[in-house]
Amino acid sequence: MALVHTPSQTTEPMLALLIAAGTVLLALITLYLVGFDQGAISRSGMYMHELMHDGRHLLGLPCH
Ligand SMILES: [Zn+2]
Repeated sequence: MALVHTPSQTTEPMLALLIAAGTVLLALITLYLVGFDQGAISRSGMYMHELMHDGRHLLGLPCH
C-alpha cells in the first residue's frame, strides 16, 4: 500500500507565498528592532535598545 500525495494546484503556491511574505516581514521587523530602534517607534523608551545592545554590536551596526 502506497500513500500518494497529490498537491493542490491552486492553494499551495499561495500558501508558500504567504509564508514567505510573513517570514520576510518578521525578519525586517527583527532587523529594525535589533539594529535601528531607539524607542521612537516601539514606544519602549530605551528598553528595546538596551535589550538588543549586544546584538547590535555583534552585527557591527552603529550604536554609540
Ligand atoms: Zn552600543
